[in-house]
Amino acid sequence: MQPSKVDNPTRHQDEPRKLFSYPKYWAECYGPAPYLPMSRAEMDELGWDSCDIIIVTADAYVDHPSFGMAVVGRLLEAQGFRVGIIAQPEWDSAEPFKALGQPNLFFGVTGGNMDSLINRYTADLRIRSDDAYTPNAEAGKRPDRSVIVYSQRCREAYYDTPIVIGGIEASLRRIAQYDYWSDKVRRSILIDSNADILLFGNAERALVDLAHDVANGRTITDCWDMRGTARVCDGPPTGWTEIDSTRIDWPAKIDKLPNPYEYQHDKKDSGDEPNGEPDAPAPVKIIPLPLQRQSDYDKTTSYIRLPSFNKVINDPVLYAHASRVLHQEANPYNAKPLIQKHGTKDVWVNPPPIPLDTDEMDWVFGLPFQRRPHPSYGDARIPAYDMIKTSVNIMRGCFGGCTFCSITEHEGRIIQSRSEDSILREIEKIRDQVPGFTGTISDLGGPTANMYKLNCKSPKIQKTCKRLSCVYPNICKHLNTDHSPTTQLYRKARAVDGVKRIAIASGLRYDLALKDPEYIEELVTHHVGGYLKIAPEHSEDQTLSKMMKPSISAYDEFKRLFDLYSRKAGKKQYLIPYFIAAHPGCDEEDMLNLSLWLKEHKFKPDQVQTFYPSPMALATAMYYSERNPLQKLRYKGEKLSVSKDIDQRRLQKAFLRYHDEKNWPMLREALKRLGRTDLIGSGKGSLIPPPTEKAKRDRKQRRRR
Ligand code: SF4
Repeated sequence: MQPSKVDNPTRHQDEPRKLFSYPKYWAECYGPAPYLPMSRAEMDELGWDSCDIIIVTADAYVDHPSFGMAVVGRLLEAQGFRVGIIAQPEWDSAEPFKALGQPNLFFGVTGGNMDSLINRYTADLRIRSDDAYTPNAEAGKRPDRSVIVYSQRCREAYYDTPIVIGGIEASLRRIAQYDYWSDKVRRSILIDSNADILLFGNAERALVDLAHDVANGRTITDCWDMRGTARVCDGPPTGWTEIDSTRIDWPAKIDKLPNPYEYQHDKKDSGDEPNGEPDAPAPVKIIPLPLQRQSDYDKTTSYIRLPSFNKVINDPVLYAHASRVLHQEANPYNAKPLIQKHGTKDVWVNPPPIPLDTDEMDWVFGLPFQRRPHPSYGDARIPAYDMIKTSVNIMRGCFGGCTFCSITEHEGRIIQSRSEDSILREIEKIRDQVPGFTGTISDLGGPTANMYKLNCKSPKIQKTCKRLSCVYPNICKHLNTDHSPTTQLYRKARAVDGVKRIAIASGLRYDLALKDPEYIEELVTHHVGGYLKIAPEHSEDQTLSKMMKPSISAYDEFKRLFDLYSRKAGKKQYLIPYFIAAHPGCDEEDMLNLSLWLKEHKFKPDQVQTFYPSPMALATAMYYSERNPLQKLRYKGEKLSVSKDIDQRRLQKAFLRYHDEKNWPMLREALKRLGRTDLIGSGKGSLIPPPTEKAKRDRKQRRRR
């Protein structure tokens, strides 16, 4: 149960406390550990009798700022707490979860840097043979749905110890979500894990607040209104106003209701009303969503009620609507809390965290990371570490809003950048600390290569903005598109002693880069080693509009500049474009056109990807509902073409690999269906060759059988 009256909820503090300004916990006297301990023996060496917080993670412990457990571990350590790590424990009993004893404050449970199911299964649901986050890439070292399994074991180990869940797996499952692997909508992970609180997004602020609050004797229930957190509760806070968004079929003349500002739910109708107990907390007002703008209510004490779990499991259109609302409530400066009923309980989701300032980002990245895996792994190779050990993360967040990607849902749309100094210092650390450093920095990037220090020009406008993307359907006129901070950074990074080359491996938002040709020239001249991978993702506007990606003409323009500056630099360089097959909204005709585009541009892709419905992505809502949540949802609205069947998905993939003869029989059938047999032949204008005599004979035989 949460407090019935809150005068000044934490979430309304738009000027949050700096991460480094909290009084330190008493255990600060122990000082920073060389590595956070993973065993009792290491704790003894540090002189600790117990840990204050134990992080349980599905990844191997690598003490590096690209690994979530290291960031939160070092962050909490810097607040004075003693933090232990249990990495990739066996999960068939609670014993491994007792390895460091009972934590004084709480367990922090994470599925690691990737969702455990994406880590384990391919987009076609085949089991992967390796795991990049495990020593020697060994597969099978984490359970499916790691957060749920680990939380249950922590509970068994120490029943009374609070459990805090976080990381991408928990973050993207904070409300009811479509789960591709079981092909059904699952409850919020809070319910299945029985955790006390969920921290979503980059959770430094909430984590530091929570740890100090719990250390000071507050309960986790007391922290119910903390930004960036979600909890299970008995009902909404008393006295708040509910914006009812549980349905999409409001009567057309809703403004003629007798008292529109104190609308009473029709209980039979929605089933989403607060708990029916007589003493259950209840809002004072319920306002139907369509009347939200005209209504007079205190916005600081209002929340949005989403359709309940029971509703969305049976109603894909309502699911798409819930997804649309969640994405609209993503701006930390104007988002409302969300509530969603799960049986007799509610899941309460606070607004996202306020982004970190540059000095806070610098402070986090400046924590005393060893930049290596824990010594207990010996010489074992951890591929994810090898990949990032010489790369530098310069920013967080992405305002692109590509619907198939969940980065925005996790890290937010507002870019949080480090200072130049902090980045250059990290390059020097890599040079000095990483064994075998050859002089190459493998990346200076983040979720996107070229969003460093780019943000809305007007903080005032940004605070009210509800757009899903700053660059789609067009580049917003309020967006600062001056790439010179990135260009300057590249120049200074190249000048660091001992650095021979800086590569840029993060994905480039090339339509945005077009706004600053000087940046493109800098990139092409100094940071491309022969090939630059970029991701137009498709050639057809119908599909691109579902992805929220720019038209292919932006690619053509980028290629023109890429070629121009490559020639000017005297370098032979090539673009490698990436595409997605079977994205919702993409039909066979679109794939055929993409295939023809590839042929015309002489591309024969080797590695191709099929759409992977990740939890909470907008495209996943499209996949499940066959509706477009980028538009207002209606039951009678247009249905999207969605390839769900494995053969349909294979065919779409085959269009990308039209040059692979294994795909030709399937493609011939498809071309016949599409009435495009003119594309089967040996002429210049054809896509694939006709069948050979032998292939015809084989086919006949197969049919006879
Ligand atoms: S106003 Fe434009 S630039 Fe500013 S946040 Fe909104 S979409 Fe982005």
